[in-house]
Amino acid sequence: AMLYPEPAMQAIQILTTGAADVLTLADLPMPTPGPGEALIRIEASGVNFIDTYFREGRYPAKLPYTLGQEAAGTIVSVASDVTTFQPGDRVAWCLIPGTYAQLAVAPAARLVAIPNGVTTQQAAAAILQGMTADYLLRAAYPVQSGDEVLIHAGAGGTGLLFIQLAKALGARVITTVSTEEKATLARAAGADEIIFYTQEDFAAKVKILTGNKGLPVVYDSVGKTTFEQSLQCLRPRGVMVLFGGSSGAVPPFDLIRLSTMGSLFITRPTLKDYIATRADLETRANDVFDAIANGTLRLRVEHVYPLADAAQAHRDLESRRTTGKILLIP
Ligand code: NDP
Repeated sequence: AMLYPEPAMQAIQILTTGAADVLTLADLPMPTPGPGEALIRIEASGVNFIDTYFREGRYPAKLPYTLGQEAAGTIVSVASDVTTFQPGDRVAWCLIPGTYAQLAVAPAARLVAIPNGVTTQQAAAAILQGMTADYLLRAAYPVQSGDEVLIHAGAGGTGLLFIQLAKALGARVITTVSTEEKATLARAAGADEIIFYTQEDFAAKVKILTGNKGLPVVYDSVGKTTFEQSLQCLRPRGVMVLFGGSSGAVPPFDLIRLSTMGSLFITRPTLKDYIATRADLETRANDVFDAIANGTLRLRVEHVYPLADAAQAHRDLESRRTTGKILLIP
C-alpha cells in the first residue's frame, strides 16, 4: 500500500532534539504551496551553524521539524496569486525552515531571483552567510576604509566571505583561526594578520598589532570562549558585534562594565532584522550576487554531502573540521 496518496519527497527531520544522530532521513508528502507561496525543487541546501542550535534545542522548534534555513533551486509551481515568479525561475532564499529536503515551499516575497553569472549552487552557498557579512559590515557597524577590524573564525563559512568583503570595503583585517590549514585559507581570502586563538592570547596580540590603541570593532561569532578577550581588544567607544556562539552562549553580562571598559557598545544582531523589508532583502542579495559575478567574492564550497549524510555534515562542522561552505545535495 502507498504511504501517501501523493508523490513523496525526502527530507532530514528531527523527532527529538540532541546530538547529530537525531537527524533522520524521512519520506514526507510533497508540500503544496499556499497563498503567496512557491514550490521549489532544491538543487543545493546550505548547512549553517544555526542548524545545530535548532537540532540541539538551543533554539525552540516545533517537532517533528525539517532542518535547514538556506537553499537554491528551480520553481516548480506557484500559487495562483503569485505574479512575481513563475515555474522555471531560479531562486534562492534563507531563514525559512525546511531546506534539508528535495522540495520546499516558501513565500514568494522571501525569494530572490538568481542572476545570470551566478550558478544555483553558488547562490545556495552564499545567500545566508554572504548577506550576513554584508549587513554586519555595512549596517551593524558600518566599516570605514582604513578601519582595523577583528573577525573571528576567519576560515569558516561566514568567515571567508567576511574577510573578502571587509577587504573590499578597505578595512585592515585581523582574523583568528585554529589551524595552519585554516590560516592559509584566511590569508588567501585577504586577511592581513592571523592569530591562532587556541594557542595565544589574542587580546594581547591585538594590542601589539594596534600599537596599544585597540580596535573600533570586533565581530565575534564564537561567543563563550572569546567574548571576554574580544572586549579587551576594543578601544574606548569601540563596538562589540556579537553575532553567534559557535563555542557556546555568552553568560549574562553586567552593563556597568561597558562604562568601566571605556564607554563600549554591544550589539547582538541577527540577519532577520536586516532583511525584514523586500527592499533590504533585494539590496543585500544583489550585493552578494554582484560580488560573486564580478569576482570580488570567491566561494569555497569545500564540503558537499548527499542529503542523507546531513548528520555527518553536522559532526564535521561542530568538531571544527570544516572550512568554507558546506552544502547538502538532495
Ligand atoms: P563556521 O563555518 O564559521 O563554523 C564555526 C567555526 O567556529 C569553526 O569552524 C571554528 O573555526 C570556530 N569555532 C570556535 N570555537 C568553536 C567550538 N567550540 N566549536 C565549534 N566551532 C568553533 O560556521 P558558520 O559560518 O555557519 O557560522 C559562524 C557563526 O556565525 C555561528 O556562530 C553562527 O551562529 C553565526 N551566524 C550569525 C548570524 C547572525 O545574523 N547573527 C548569521 C549567520 C551566522 P576555528 O577552528 O578556526 O576556530
